[in-house]
Amino acid sequence: MHSSFISEQELSFKSHSLLKKFYGYDSFYPLQYDAIQCVNRGDDCLVLMPTGGGKSLCFQIPALLFDGCCIVVSPLISLMKDQVDSLCSNGIPAAAINSSQDEYSNREILENVFKGRIKLLYISPERLLSEMDQWSDDMAISMIAIDEAHCISQWGHDFRPEYSQLSTIKRRFPNAPIMALTATADKLTRKDIVKQLGIGDAKIFLSSFDRPNLSLNVIEDGASKHKLQTITKLIDRHEGESGIIYCLSRSTTEKLAESLCALGYKAECYHAGLANIVREKVQKRFLNDDTQIMCATIAFGMGINKSNVRWVIHYNMPKSMESYYQEIGRAGRDGLDAETLMFYSYGDVITLTSFIRDSGQVVVNTEKLNRMQQYAESHVCRRRILLSYFNERYDKDCGNCDVCKNPPTRIDGTIIAQMALSAIIRCNEKIGISMLIDILRGANKADIKAKGYDTIKTYGIGRQLSVRQWSHYMLQFLQLGLFEIAYDEGNSLKVTKYGYDILKGNEQLEVSEYVYEQPAAKKKEKVKAKGIVNPSTLLSSLKSLRLEISKSLGVPAFIIFSDKVINTIAELKPTTKEEFSSIHGIGEIKSEKYWKQFTDVVKSHNGLL
Ligand code: ADP
Ligand code: ZN
Repeated sequence: MHSSFISEQELSFKSHSLLKKFYGYDSFYPLQYDAIQCVNRGDDCLVLMPTGGGKSLCFQIPALLFDGCCIVVSPLISLMKDQVDSLCSNGIPAAAINSSQDEYSNREILENVFKGRIKLLYISPERLLSEMDQWSDDMAISMIAIDEAHCISQWGHDFRPEYSQLSTIKRRFPNAPIMALTATADKLTRKDIVKQLGIGDAKIFLSSFDRPNLSLNVIEDGASKHKLQTITKLIDRHEGESGIIYCLSRSTTEKLAESLCALGYKAECYHAGLANIVREKVQKRFLNDDTQIMCATIAFGMGINKSNVRWVIHYNMPKSMESYYQEIGRAGRDGLDAETLMFYSYGDVITLTSFIRDSGQVVVNTEKLNRMQQYAESHVCRRRILLSYFNERYDKDCGNCDVCKNPPTRIDGTIIAQMALSAIIRCNEKIGISMLIDILRGANKADIKAKGYDTIKTYGIGRQLSVRQWSHYMLQFLQLGLFEIAYDEGNSLKVTKYGYDILKGNEQLEVSEYVYEQPAAKKKEKVKAKGIVNPSTLLSSLKSLRLEISKSLGVPAFIIFSDKVINTIAELKPTTKEEFSSIHGIGEIKSEKYWKQFTDVVKSHNGLL
């Protein structure tokens, strides 16, 4: 039961002091306070914020403000555990009821809820539904938060049947405000959530989906050898920092992890083909910073609440902008800079197109793939495209994507195109892109000779361009519609009418010039054992201390302090309790518990100890 509404003035004062006391923050993120005000009015709401937007505080602060317990419906046990650990470490009484605990503990927790000793109770939807009718009406419930609310919608990308019965909650607890939360922004899903939950009057809080701390980069490359080089350069720039590499196939995740391990990196793979127990262990090692690099299929991520993922790579182009946005969104949840990189090639386009043919939803999925491809090939600011895809206005260049940093140069591509088109026609439109490139470069390959393609006039005519350069231009020719890929004829190329116009010289063609940029790697001496950081820096000593504490408590390191907090400690070098507790992101409880150990490390680095 919603016990007490408080005045605006009191609400503002109390919620800000709770924010400071328990979380060590001075101000709310956009819309957090609006959501809190909504609960105070007793109204239902839907909160749409990107990953890292700060959804949790929207219900955690009201949970602390009002009498009774806030029920949090959450789909995954691993997510519940992280949240409960994190709340408890801040001194907030929270617990979870789920099937991984014995019934005795579950009963005991409920007993404590009943006695008013627990402020937040995390519970799975099926559990809540099977239990709630037996709960006594005397049990004080302040509000109900429904996390990952898009799971209720068939339109969403992660429909869960257990969510579909949640409409009964409103009837069971008519007086408790409901807050649905999700990071899925699309309109259809949004409407469906409100309808399915029976909260038609819900206020909607839609925050910006921009994640300015994520740098967006796309490299056109299909060759695994090059990709590996680019990847290792990126990892070296992020020494000791966690990252995820998303691949299209299970076998790629395995091979890639193997190659990285062979080079001395700490990498593992994760995909749906692994046994549950193995997956859990792999995930845990990643959370706890024991494994630095996760090579994974899209099966990895939903349960990942790790705030300090510093980079995400797409080894292949994802199938849609939604997937892309969600996957890069796993980086930089703590708001610090994070790097994202996507590789794409016509090989990816071919693979994804073949997936679509088997998907049963050809029209929609083809459209999604096209949008993804346009993004990858874009010559305008990538963030503009990304946000406009999510119907958000963004009318400046971001300055934090590869296009903004390196605007492409346009060149006349007519002659290059003519070489390619002529070769396709001379081979009777029976060849695919890689054979075409081999022919143009005059590659001495058996299959070319067998078919007599080494005798055509265009054989070897394009030797002056590398395979990479050719791939770059071919992709543009395909995109610009000079030829099409006949997926039902072994991916052979068919010249279009536009292609013939170019070939005959009726029209000129402009393309973006190929520039191979080496990612600006910091010059560093090669270190043999990767991931071992120079022990003498203050930052690394602080991180070691954090790791030591987290290990002893059996929780991931970021639950003790986020990377942001650790960086701030290294920067401000607090030596007293006062200095330590004034740091942004350190609440009272943690300050009390840890100030001594951390300030000692600072002092010993200052030579004071
Ligand atoms: P979401 O659930 O939307 O992905 P979280 O609730 O996990 O986001 O918050 C993301 C990060 O931002 C967390 O590290 C959290 O502590 C931090 N955070 C949330 N609100 C604030 C705030 N008002 N000021 C500073 N940091 C915040
Ligand atoms: Zn940009």
